[in-house]
Amino acid sequence: MRAPILALPELLINQIAAGEVVERPASALKELLENSIDADATAIRIELIEGGIKRIRVADNGGGMPKAELLLAVKRHATSKIRDLHDLERVATMGFRGEALASLGAISRLTVASRMLDAPHAFSLQVLGGDIGATEPAALAEGTVIDAEDLFFNTPARRKFLKTEGTEFGHCEDAAIRVAMAYPSIAISITHNGRLIWSHAPQSHEARAMAILGDEFAGSSLRIAELHAAFSLNGFIALPRYSRAGRDQQFTFVNGRFVRDKLLQHAIRAGYADVLHHGRQPAFALFLTLDASLVDVNVHPAKAEVRFRDSRAVHQFVFHALNKALSATSAEVSTPMADPTKVAQRANARDSPRTVQGQISVAPRYSELRFSSPTQYTANEPNNAANRFYDVMRGESPNTPNPPTAISTMAPPNDTVAPPLGFALGQLHGIYILAQNQQGLVVIDMHAAHERILYEKFKRAASIYETASQPLLTPIAFAIAPRERELLDDNRPLFLELGFDFADLSPNEIAIRAVPAMLDRREPHDLLREMLDELSLHGASRAIEERRDEILSTMACHAAVRANRILTLPEMNALLRQMEETERSGQCNHGRPTWYQFAISDLDRLFMRGR
Ligand code: ADP
Ligand code: MG
Repeated sequence: MRAPILALPELLINQIAAGEVVERPASALKELLENSIDADATAIRIELIEGGIKRIRVADNGGGMPKAELLLAVKRHATSKIRDLHDLERVATMGFRGEALASLGAISRLTVASRMLDAPHAFSLQVLGGDIGATEPAALAEGTVIDAEDLFFNTPARRKFLKTEGTEFGHCEDAAIRVAMAYPSIAISITHNGRLIWSHAPQSHEARAMAILGDEFAGSSLRIAELHAAFSLNGFIALPRYSRAGRDQQFTFVNGRFVRDKLLQHAIRAGYADVLHHGRQPAFALFLTLDASLVDVNVHPAKAEVRFRDSRAVHQFVFHALNKALSATSAEVSTPMADPTKVAQRANARDSPRTVQGQISVAPRYSELRFSSPTQYTANEPNNAANRFYDVMRGESPNTPNPPTAISTMAPPNDTVAPPLGFALGQLHGIYILAQNQQGLVVIDMHAAHERILYEKFKRAASIYETASQPLLTPIAFAIAPRERELLDDNRPLFLELGFDFADLSPNEIAIRAVPAMLDRREPHDLLREMLDELSLHGASRAIEERRDEILSTMACHAAVRANRILTLPEMNALLRQMEETERSGQCNHGRPTWYQFAISDLDRLFMRGR
């Protein structure tokens, strides 16, 4: 009954490829803008109709194409940008796969018109759902105009996946903003349904970034200009006093290309780790430049992801650049906040219309380094300590304040066999736990370790049974932007399965009615926003398991003990014991180590003992 193997027709191949390259109007727009950049345009005009679904038109004043190449331009795997593998390994242009125009031609009514400098006139070519027409003379003053109409008109199944006009336009605008940010010397404008949305004249890097990020960012930002043998990092980052509820002002570029990269994201967050309130998002526009051979951009058809040759070095470099810049401002940051509610109110007003109702609690961020009073650890640790640990882990404040005492030097009783991670000695800078084991000193990243434990626990719970749900006494209203609503609707079964419950209040407001029982119940709106952000970062096309893990990972991060939380020794020891029991506890959810061993011999060497 088996059907014979047949080669697929060209149109079908292009339609399949179009599914990867052109997911929605915004991805088509991105490809067209990149082509204009590669053609050295200094001015780009974008015109969209009905969110780009009806029409995407990009006109540039770049170098153009000769008549004979118009036909090649719309054929698959035809490109002027790379010739061989050597070129591929050091791509300097935005495009190189030769797929965009062919894909667009397969799923829209495409017109390409172009005029080479000094040519007497322009030529144009039409492609209607894969049928390529004849090359004809056309009227065009300069550059290239690409006009794609009726996206997915011949692939109705794909068309159904498109969202509302407003949502699709929003994605297109994001794509345009990213290009505007990365190429300030290019004049760029965007119109929607005939109305000018914004335009920028050629500007300096700084002026363009500030025009996009706004006055308030401009008034609270630092310039980053860091050079290393192999990399440079430039751009602007917001001071911690300017933070946001969402990731809408986070721009990372690698060699001029906007990327969503977990490693960079992580390095940046780590740079802010000590100075930003948990749950708030930093704002930044950062440009990493490195030799093209040190980064692989050919990982993803839409080139939204990259792979670094030496990811560790990149992480270190970015983290240190931010850390240095931000720690220089720590005097400002560490002044105690006069009235936390005011800060929260201001923060919310700033992010309007994405405001959150319901009570907002801001935990004090800076506390002195203190060690708790000595408590004797025994092999059978009393349950109350473990319970208190759980309370702390769930974010419930212990009733008893920690007595401010001198540094504890408690050592475990000599006759006890130390467990692998040993016994806690104390806390360092509210971030690390120091412990003594057989080999010597163990330094544990408290948050990372706890996050891992919770993540594994949540994953186990989610795989075995439906996660128990905890209804909220008073449902919390949550203002929701159209794109967030879209994400929420797409993932609603997943959220329900994990124990969340929502009610629709209005098109732009929902009520959070229940949260997973294993979670801290105090700031579900922060958590929800983080989860939606995390989901939006990676698109909806991924497998459900991947999305579930993402949600669980965000839940774990949210629930994990935060920096500067003072733990008692029994609490620290309880954490160490849990780490020993947890799979993969040696690494946090982001792949960083959670603990590090310093052997006595390492320390001896430092002090030149025993020589
Ligand atoms: P790629 O950009 O990967 O080469 P595309 O399908 O996007 O593939 O474009 C195919 C070719 O058409 C490009 O290599 C380039 O030579 C030409 N081209 C496309 N857009 C433009 C433009 N705006 N200006 C000049 N040439 C263009
Ligand atoms: Mg291209």
